[in-house]
Amino acid sequence: MSKNSPRRFTKQRRLVHDAVIHRVDHPTAKDIFHELKGTGIGIATVYRQLASMVEDGILTTVDYDNETRYDPLTSPHAHLICSICNKIKDIELPKGIDNLTPEKLSFEINEIELTWKGICDDCQN
Ligand SMILES: [Zn+2]
Ligand SMILES: [Zn+2]
Repeated sequence: MSKNSPRRFTKQRRLVHDAVIHRVDHPTAKDIFHELKGTGIGIATVYRQLASMVEDGILTTVDYDNETRYDPLTSPHAHLICSICNKIKDIELPKGIDNLTPEKLSFEINEIELTWKGICDDCQN
């Protein structure tokens, strides 16, 4: 199937879509699976639907701690990651980051991944 062809919006896809699309905490497939407990959807289906939403550009992924987390915010942004609770928070890219592009290396930038690691609000208390 080509990237731009419309996919049938199946019931399973809608379930996974609705479960992930408003999340700001970058859930794993397992988190979504747990949220959908009771709907009868299987973990393999959750993985498959999430992967297909990534392919369609509806979600991006963040790999952290050997797990893929799913991110419905697809515009460029940076992340704060708490090393205690593993919570991932979205923040704006710092202004002027484009000026850091290493032009002299003749390297074409497709994507900037920027992460701060530390201890979140909740875990500091
Ligand atoms: Zn924390
Ligand atoms: Zn994010």
